[in-house]
Amino acid sequence: MQKVLLAAAMAVVLVACGADAQNRSTASNAPRAGFDSNRAWTDLERQVAFGPRPAGSAALAQCRQYIEAQLKAAGISFREQPFDATTPAGTIKMVNVIGTIAGRRAERIALATHYDTKRFQEFKFLGASDAASSTAAVLELARVLKNRQNEFTIELLFLDGEEAVNREWRDPDNTYGSKYYVQAARQAATLGSLKALVLLDMVGDRDLDIRPDSNSAGWLNSIVWRSAARLGYTSTFVPEGFTVEDDHLPFVQAGVPSIDIIDLDYPQWHTAQDDLDHVSARSLQIVGDVVLDAWPQIETAASQR
Ligand SMILES: [Zn+2]
Repeated sequence: MQKVLLAAAMAVVLVACGADAQNRSTASNAPRAGFDSNRAWTDLERQVAFGPRPAGSAALAQCRQYIEAQLKAAGISFREQPFDATTPAGTIKMVNVIGTIAGRRAERIALATHYDTKRFQEFKFLGASDAASSTAAVLELARVLKNRQNEFTIELLFLDGEEAVNREWRDPDNTYGSKYYVQAARQAATLGSLKALVLLDMVGDRDLDIRPDSNSAGWLNSIVWRSAARLGYTSTFVPEGFTVEDDHLPFVQAGVPSIDIIDLDYPQWHTAQDDLDHVSARSLQIVGDVVLDAWPQIETAASQR
C-alpha cells in the first residue's frame, strides 16, 4: 500500500486517459528480441496461483522459490537477505532476494519491486497487480538485461514486507524490506556505489496510467517519460504528477536517486478484485518496453553525475 499525499485532478485525468483501448488487447504471440510479455504473463499467473502472499507466509516462500528458480534458469546469480522485522503483529521473518547482473563497472543501478502482498483476513487478496505484475516485469526485464552488455552492474531487488501489516499505512509499519536493505548497505559501505534505483510497483492495470511521482528524481522521471513518448505511450505515461510513499523512500532519504513507476489509479487496489481479470500482458509490455529503452540513458546520466 502506498499513501497518496497529493493527487490533483485525478478524476479528470482518469476520464481523459483511462480505458485506453490499446491497453485492453492481449500481447501477440510473435517472438520478440526484447521484453516478452507472454513470458512475463506466465510469471504473473504463477504468482497469483500461490494465493495470498503476505510477509512470513508459506505462499510467499513458494513465490520466493519461484523467483529464485527463474533467476537461476536465466543464469543470474542471487542471494537471500533474511531479517527479522518488528511489526504490529510481532516479529516476522522476511527475506529480500538480491540478484546481480555484472556490468562493465562494479557500481550498481538497482531494479526493484516488492513481492509480498497485503494481508487481509476478510477476503482472499491475490495481488495480481500489487505486486505480481511488477515482480513479473522485473523478472522478464532481468532475462533481457542479462543478455545485454550493461555499463553498470544491475542489482535486482525483490523486496519483502512493503505492505503495512496493519490495515492503515502508518510509519514505521511499511517498507520493511527496503529499509532493511538500505540499513545493511550503509553498514557494509556499499550504498555509495548504488547510483540509482528504478522501482516498479502495480504496473499490471488494464487501464494503465502512470504519473510522475514527486518523491522521484526529476532527471529519472524525464528520461522515462521521454522514452515513453518516443515509443508512443503518451496516453499511458501521463504528465500530471502526484506523490507516492513506496519502497523508494528509504533510498531517497539515503541520497540514492530513485524513480517509482507505479499506477495507483487502479480501482481494484487492495480489494478482492485485484485479480487476473483486471491486469493485462499489454500493460506489462508497455512498462517493459519503456524501462528497456530508458535503461542505457539512465546509465549515461548516472555516469555523468
Ligand atoms: Zn499494496
